Amino acid sequence: MLAREKNLVRFGLMTYMLPIQGVASNKVTIGNQELLMLGSYSYLGLISHPEIFKVAHEALDKYGSGAGGVRLLTGTADIHEQLERKIADFKRTEDSIVYSSGYVTNMTLISTLFGKDDLIVIDKYDHQSIYDGCILSKADWKRFNHNDTGDLERVLEENRSNYKRVLVIVDGVFSMDGDIAPMPEIIEIAKQHDSFTMVDEAHALGTVGPNGRGVDDYFDLKPGAVDIYMGTLSKAIPSIGGYIAARKEVITYLKFTSNAFVFSAALPPMCAAVSLKALEIIETDKELIKSLQKNYAYFINGVKEMGYNTLRSKDTPIVPVIIGDDIKTFRYAKKMKKEGILVPPIVFPAVPREAGRLRCCVMATHTEDEIDFILETMEKIGKSMKVI
Ligand code: PMP
Repeated sequence: MLAREKNLVRFGLMTYMLPIQGVASNKVTIGNQELLMLGSYSYLGLISHPEIFKVAHEALDKYGSGAGGVRLLTGTADIHEQLERKIADFKRTEDSIVYSSGYVTNMTLISTLFGKDDLIVIDKYDHQSIYDGCILSKADWKRFNHNDTGDLERVLEENRSNYKRVLVIVDGVFSMDGDIAPMPEIIEIAKQHDSFTMVDEAHALGTVGPNGRGVDDYFDLKPGAVDIYMGTLSKAIPSIGGYIAARKEVITYLKFTSNAFVFSAALPPMCAAVSLKALEIIETDKELIKSLQKNYAYFINGVKEMGYNTLRSKDTPIVPVIIGDDIKTFRYAKKMKKEGILVPPIVFPAVPREAGRLRCCVMATHTEDEIDFILETMEKIGKSMKVI
């Protein structure tokens, strides 16, 4: 174990990997303590939705527990194809492809489509799987400052002419800062420099835009405005897996050539069935997205009013609450746990030094009373620790 983590255990400050007994909904049980969850990626609370349980049971009975093969050969089930059609419709693209993890989706997409002679330009705060995809691809890659379109322009101006093809990749909603990429400007700049665009909507799907369809919904973009939409089935969608939604020829190419499709076992059909049902629920139950958006607006206002620094987080369920150095951040999270709230402390190297934070994730299923209790607790702890 690393020295810092050893000390956390020694001083009783370790709040990572605490085993949750049962469903990870907005209330969880750890040992004999019941806690309010403030760190779940199941933003819409679909993880505890009765329809999801029903579909999972039915799919298990119909398909069994695994796919029994890779997608290219014998691992494709009818439900995989139904899910891919649904994702394509949801993202208003021609087609889509599903992989067995979001992490792997980024790795395989980038390394299949781009290589030597190409350049990949990424936001400094893009997810680790995008960095790893760049490394695997053997393309050159460069970073621009977070959400800084002027810096993106500079990188493209300085480098575009040296490469055959260029791909600009951003996270739609940034997982550590909870802010949204300025997609209309990014698309425009990429177009001016004859470059492709890709957006990772792991935290945007089901959370932003009036219909929860993601960044295109939020910015009211035209269908296909972004060349490649990537998303996960492990967050607002309470399953596992990742997808790419794009033009048909891109998806067909990926189906025959991307290593994670050709050489890795298919997503279990049960997970595909759950994902399909979750997308149907998002489309039909508009109250869910409304509750989520009401809850995150209420929470962020409350935290800001107390004087906490929440960076530029706005209109997303991820609210970073800056605490300071590592140990202070761990101490704060430990105090929250003592009061009955589970929230993950995020520290260096995941975020810059001294910018340790609680990454608060609001859910559609939090009640107003629960959010009020969280805010009251944060006021008490924040004052006692002199954070506010
Ligand atoms: N992209 C982003 C922005 C993420 O936050 C994550 C996971 N936290 C992934 C990709 C990987 O997705 P998965 O966990 O479904 O593999």
